[in-house]
Amino acid sequence: MCTFPDNFRVRGYGSFASVDELCTSNMAPRSVRIPSRLPILLVSGGVLLPGSSMRIPVHAPRNMQLVKNHVMKRNSLSSIIIGVAATTSKDPQTEDLAALHGIGTAAVVAQVTGTNWPKPAYTLLVTGLCRFRLDDFVQEKPYPIAHVTQLDKLPGDLTDVNDDELAALLDTFKEKASLLVDMLDITVPVVAKLKKMLDSLPSQHLPDVFASIVKATYKEKLQVLDAVGLRERFEKTLPLLIRQIEGLRLLQNSKEQGNKKSKKIPDVRIVVKPPGEGGRRPLRIVGDQDDDGEVDEITELENKIKQANLPAQALKVATRELKRLKKMPAAMPDHAVIRNYLELMAELPWSKSSPYQLDITHAREDLDADHYGLDKLKQRVMEYLAVRQLKNNLRGPILCFVGPPGVGKTSVGRSIAHILGREFHRISLGGVVDSSDIRGHRRTYIGSMPGRVVQGLRTVGTNNPLFLLDEVDKLGRSMQGDPASALLEVLDPEQNAHFTDHYLNVPFDLSQVIFIATANTTATIPPALLDRMEVISVPGYTQEEKHNIATRHLVPKQLKEHGLTGEELQFSEEGLKSIIGRYTREAGVRTLERRLGAVCRAVAVKVAEGLPKPKQHAVENKESKEEDKTDDVHAVDEDIKVPHVDHPPNLPIVIDNHAVKDILGPPVYEHEVSQRLNQPGVAVGLAWTPMGGEIMFVEATRMDGDGQLTLTGQLGDVMKESAQLAISWLRSNALEYGLVQKAGQDLMENTDVHIHFPAGAIGKDGPSAGVTIVTVLASLFSGHIVRWDTAMTGEITLRGVVLPVGGIKEKVLAAHRAGIKRIILPKRNEKDLQDIPSNVRKELTFILADQLSDVLKAAFDEGFPSSKQDRAVSSKL
Ligand code: ADP
Repeated sequence: MCTFPDNFRVRGYGSFASVDELCTSNMAPRSVRIPSRLPILLVSGGVLLPGSSMRIPVHAPRNMQLVKNHVMKRNSLSSIIIGVAATTSKDPQTEDLAALHGIGTAAVVAQVTGTNWPKPAYTLLVTGLCRFRLDDFVQEKPYPIAHVTQLDKLPGDLTDVNDDELAALLDTFKEKASLLVDMLDITVPVVAKLKKMLDSLPSQHLPDVFASIVKATYKEKLQVLDAVGLRERFEKTLPLLIRQIEGLRLLQNSKEQGNKKSKKIPDVRIVVKPPGEGGRRPLRIVGDQDDDGEVDEITELENKIKQANLPAQALKVATRELKRLKKMPAAMPDHAVIRNYLELMAELPWSKSSPYQLDITHAREDLDADHYGLDKLKQRVMEYLAVRQLKNNLRGPILCFVGPPGVGKTSVGRSIAHILGREFHRISLGGVVDSSDIRGHRRTYIGSMPGRVVQGLRTVGTNNPLFLLDEVDKLGRSMQGDPASALLEVLDPEQNAHFTDHYLNVPFDLSQVIFIATANTTATIPPALLDRMEVISVPGYTQEEKHNIATRHLVPKQLKEHGLTGEELQFSEEGLKSIIGRYTREAGVRTLERRLGAVCRAVAVKVAEGLPKPKQHAVENKESKEEDKTDDVHAVDEDIKVPHVDHPPNLPIVIDNHAVKDILGPPVYEHEVSQRLNQPGVAVGLAWTPMGGEIMFVEATRMDGDGQLTLTGQLGDVMKESAQLAISWLRSNALEYGLVQKAGQDLMENTDVHIHFPAGAIGKDGPSAGVTIVTVLASLFSGHIVRWDTAMTGEITLRGVVLPVGGIKEKVLAAHRAGIKRIILPKRNEKDLQDIPSNVRKELTFILADQLSDVLKAAFDEGFPSSKQDRAVSSKL
């Protein structure tokens, strides 16, 4: 653990140039003082002594903060001094600071290395300078800073010591120390350095230096650290030195005799390795738990790699890396990097797969059991599975489920994995902008790690899982390369049998992996990727479908999750309808599931409160027995074991309308449409969004001005143009519709108009609001209120023709959810109505408009222009 690294330098610290000099220089400035306040690094299980170096792994949040704030923020490492204090706790974050060891070692930071994988961690290389006493803490969080008192001076001299006893002790110590050094292999640089140090190092540093290299327990090292007085320090270290020499002697003897019992030699920290065998790693640490552990770990790793059944190419690389690892001292930063790499190699499922399992006759039953509705999606999935069974290979398009959130895209993916007996893994692509996220970082980077595909394989542990590529429409792009092209490589059956992750750097066969993608919209899926996929849209549910999904799937699921049963909680029809209609307005069922969860939680509290408490009953029973003066002890005992609970049978808590209101509060979506459509200048439009269809209240108002049109609500260019078109058409037809009194009069004369599209913070674009804008303006100028039960969608032309638009199914479902009864649609969208579930169609009236005049006629109660028109206009103007 404590070594003298050959190659590191401490820059800018007094006149020290390297560790060697730090320990050997007599020229070191006597005047150097450590600061009176030091940030304290908590180290468990090791003791840093002055004059020695130590690599300290930093994981605990407190220590991480210290490194981040105190070390990483500096431009250079020069003159960063920290206090290193020993703690007995394994977790420095929870350590009670008052219980820290009272004496610590001030240290210079010589090197910092870091990694981000598997989790953020630093390794500090520090060199001990001198002891200090912890006085008190200036701060404890985020990392401790303490007032300290320097206990021993930086390099001084012992020559002026006038103490015969101490001088004798020093002589003995030097003698033993040189004996120890002589027993070591001098050809080894560290040993040579040690020998040199023995001659040149100020004598008072010898105990610390030797205590840090001989085998000693944690407690013994702490005792050396606590030995502030020189004599005490020599006295504490000398026995350690002698023990080490004895140990070495025994070892050498046993080697000479070839005695196998040598393994039982007492703890020895440094052993001499026969030249040749130990040429590269001369100082082996034996008996040290850490190192034994490390050797064991390497052997274990080797076995794991053997068992992993690697393909030839990967095996070659793994064997090469393993060889490197064996030669490398554990303290080198590369050691951890190679070990992480090899662990990944060993854990990847090179030849482990889930057994083939597909019973096509049961597949549909399984799909139906997990999901209500979704017929089109299930049909296509069945076809996919059937082809798989017949052809037994995976070539073909990748399925991509496109639809609003919460419609079951992910859970259908999970069901398919279940049907095929494959492991399931979700790779979320939302916000991925870097191709390395998919393909991994090269191992040369600090903190490099494999990409998500390889990480996923490691997680699932089989080479034929089902990967759900979630949110492919939210893939980004940046300077770091295009993740979509990396994904293409993963998905392409021609290439993916040799997919090479940059971190792994050997090909991994992905040809057995099933990929299924999900997205909210196809508009933002990179075209090359979209080309590889077969899009299956899942438009959202009707209220009735939601009701069925809730009763069959969501309610039982939520009951189970909250530890409730159907005997304790039941949802009435009206209660469920109320939750669906008045507390949610979404295409999917995610909010609905959350609301059901909220109800279950509230009921769980009631049920838990009302539960009989067995122990109390037992005591009550016992007491009542005693009151009866029964002295049959056995009878009482039996009662305690099986308490007789005399409760009336529990009735289920039924969630009706009132209960829903009590638990969830006032309805969120009640009477919204009728309330908002109670004045002129408001109409309901229908919009398509990636979240599903939505209703949109378009509002307009007018004021004195000079004919300006203001549009708000973050509109795109197309939508702004629709507004221009609408106003131009209305101006040119104003006389015909009775909006102006005489020919030549301009509708916008002395008038400004402002049109707003809520929700203002969300960007909107597209031509489909054209008819709604015309209706809003007609309502505003005529003073007529638009029918509250009517919503509309359609593009317009300057001549007043209504053109077809997209997303009809989603829009109609949204209108139905919002309680709209009539929908004005472009005539040419009539064909789209067949996609709409018949029960929804039955509850709605569709008005198919060819011209804007049809729209206006349908949007107002009395048609447009109406008999009341003239009065309204004249009162306005
Ligand atoms: P998405 O991936 O489309 O955003 P999820 O698959 O996460 O949606 O579904 C959200 C929740 O709704 C899940 O608990 C899922 O089981 C449930 N769910 C959605 N659609 C259905 C359905 N048709 N039948 C049963 N449960 C469903």
